Amino acid sequence: MEFSLLVNAFEQMETTTSRLSLTDYLVQLFKITPPEEIEKVIYLIQGKLRPDFEGIEMGLAEKMILRALAHSSGKNVASLLEIYRSTGDLGDLTKEAMAHRNQTTLSSQVMTVERVYSVLFKIAKTSGPGSQEIKIKLVTGLINECSPREARYVIKFIVGSLRLGIADNTVMDALSLAFTGSKKNRVLLENAYNSSSDLGQVAKILATESLDAIEKIKISLFKPVRPMLAERSPTIEDVFKQVKGSAAAEFKLDGERIQVHKGKGHVELFSRRLEKITGHFPDIVSIIVESRISNSIFEGEVVAIDPKTLEFLPFQVLMRRRRKHRVSEAMKNYPVYLNVFDILYYDGESKIQLPYKDRRKLLEHLIAEINDRRVLLVPQEIVEDEKSIARYLSKALHAGCEGIMVKQLESEYRAGARGYAWIKLKKEYGSNLTDTLDLVIVGALYGRGRRVGRYGALLLAAYDPTSDTFKTTSKVGTGFTDQHLSDLYNNLEKYLLMHKHPRVDASMPMDIWFEPKIVIEIVASEITLSPIHTAGMNTVKENYGLALRFPKFTGKVRDDKIAEDATKIEEIVSLYKQQKRTISN
Ligand code: ATP
Repeated sequence: MEFSLLVNAFEQMETTTSRLSLTDYLVQLFKITPPEEIEKVIYLIQGKLRPDFEGIEMGLAEKMILRALAHSSGKNVASLLEIYRSTGDLGDLTKEAMAHRNQTTLSSQVMTVERVYSVLFKIAKTSGPGSQEIKIKLVTGLINECSPREARYVIKFIVGSLRLGIADNTVMDALSLAFTGSKKNRVLLENAYNSSSDLGQVAKILATESLDAIEKIKISLFKPVRPMLAERSPTIEDVFKQVKGSAAAEFKLDGERIQVHKGKGHVELFSRRLEKITGHFPDIVSIIVESRISNSIFEGEVVAIDPKTLEFLPFQVLMRRRRKHRVSEAMKNYPVYLNVFDILYYDGESKIQLPYKDRRKLLEHLIAEINDRRVLLVPQEIVEDEKSIARYLSKALHAGCEGIMVKQLESEYRAGARGYAWIKLKKEYGSNLTDTLDLVIVGALYGRGRRVGRYGALLLAAYDPTSDTFKTTSKVGTGFTDQHLSDLYNNLEKYLLMHKHPRVDASMPMDIWFEPKIVIEIVASEITLSPIHTAGMNTVKENYGLALRFPKFTGKVRDDKIAEDATKIEEIVSLYKQQKRTISN
């Protein structure tokens, strides 16, 4: 397939903010893509070369790209930097520099998607001594063969600035329309994606085989399964209303969720956002490697413990284990326990269809087989009524947990779904909000006084799955230490935009905008009506949205969440309604 066809589609998609038009452009693109190339096209659209869990990165710094571009365009780095300052994007700089170079394209051959993909793959896979020079040569060679418009996208892809803003759901809608003629089959694609976490593979099977083959995609070892998630409940009465009868109440531990995959002697760990994090917990890995279990997938919460008192330590302590160097020292200072709470695959067979009570029995078996005190079953009790739920909640809070999870005994494991089969209950609600919200940073105001050179306030948004946009609900400036401020400043740099992102719905003016990527945890005293925030606009009252009162950063950056995992608009609306109920009671 000619690369210019993909470039045409990218250019169209860059200029639209409407989800419907994006879907249309994607449908047209998929219809002209040869089936054997659809997998690569999907990855390129997502700005990656392979699914996230394979962890493939380009590994090229900006200054290396500038050197490659200097070779290709015949301009020196200083004059390139000058243009870069005005364009602000390396892709745009490439297009401009290549359009004005002395020679025209060096190759008479048409550039293809296959060729671009294979060179990019080679760049990503090149490592070791001298690899930077080899990578520069590969980039130079590739952009020399491209037209300036094509070169712009090659570079945008390499530096990660291909911001088409296309969510996975939109890609699945378009795949369903292009290959089955209707959006209603999207649910089958979604199930397959939830089991395999590989949209490229799902698309390829759809394009080269059939919908039947899609239904056969099941969970398998070393491909992370998209996690099942919980709904929140405000009160014990509400939890009981949802479960109607007996249910399993468990400690809700405040650590990091991991999914463990064990084959024959080989173990991989995946994070909640499906990245491979095997290297973060070598101690857990070696316990599982040495255990007798094989061909199994299970999930649990890793929690740091105090080696002297054996008490659970907060999430922030666990994060100190996230380092590349001196891992063994960190392991000694911050030992961890894995508290296992679900099993998805056992002895080579999927178990997600089993009722939870039976999966828990299997888990008991699994823990006995692992037989190491650092891998435990998460504490559980069967609750029958409101009283027993209240008792268990208070027990969990005393033990230092953030709350409890109440699980329906008969429920299947629903990959990628949030529902009332699992209910999370934190402290009881009073008139104040006690639960935290996870919100996406979408904009900022520059700091003044002590905060000059950093951000003074951040604009935060919740996720609206219906329109696939992020709607603002708060501006936050408190709760940040100097360290937080400078870390956030650095982390946000790569997502900087001069204009509001197409998927952000905001009416407040900001100094600077961001691609919606970073999720942070916020506490607030209550939710109020607001004429300027767009979250829940017109839902509770005409021309009013919902805003957080006295928002404060808790210190927790939720880097285990992607932007679409942020608190949803409907959750904020329901918190607002519950709060009104509680106040008027
Ligand atoms: P939160 O923001 O409240 O931490 P979340 O949005 O990350 O939650 P939820 O589905 O709302 O995810 O809550 C479930 C999370 O709680 C799980 O992802 C897991 O990390 C954690 N957890 C702690 N204890 C348990 C347990 N016993 N069973 C299931 N999940 C648990």
